[in-house]
Amino acid sequence: MRNGKFTPRRGFTPPDNTPYRYRDGSRMDASPGYHPHVSTRFRNWGAGAPAAIAKRELPELYRDRSECCGCTACAAACPRDAIAMESDEEGFAYPVVDAALCIRCRRCMDVCVFKAALVERWHQGVRK
Ligand code: SF4
Ligand code: SF4
Repeated sequence: MRNGKFTPRRGFTPPDNTPYRYRDGSRMDASPGYHPHVSTRFRNWGAGAPAAIAKRELPELYRDRSECCGCTACAAACPRDAIAMESDEEGFAYPVVDAALCIRCRRCMDVCVFKAALVERWHQGVRK
């Protein structure tokens, strides 16, 4: 990053943001240029899930990129193979959840060391 502009290394093609949505359904900026993602990306966000599953919330694996180190534990734990590690705009791999496959079991969140650390900090009264 220089002068507020990010220049990908030569040969790296930033991902197309068109298929991704955030957990609340909002679309990512897919226009040309540098648009770093913020939180967990989802594919097939609008795909219909069975009613019993759809009323449960999709997992938020990270609310900010600083809450994910790309360790892949969540992807390994998913019983539905609903999580794929995909490059972001800077070439770093982050988990992407396929909402059509996800059964909202939250195993991915249970195994995440970052989530455990955040909960521990919360219990200790450290909010940041
Ligand atoms: S387990 Fe947590 S830290 Fe590891 S890749 Fe998944 S969300 Fe990121
Ligand atoms: S909630 Fe369950 S099914 Fe959905 S991505 Fe996480 S581990 Fe996979």
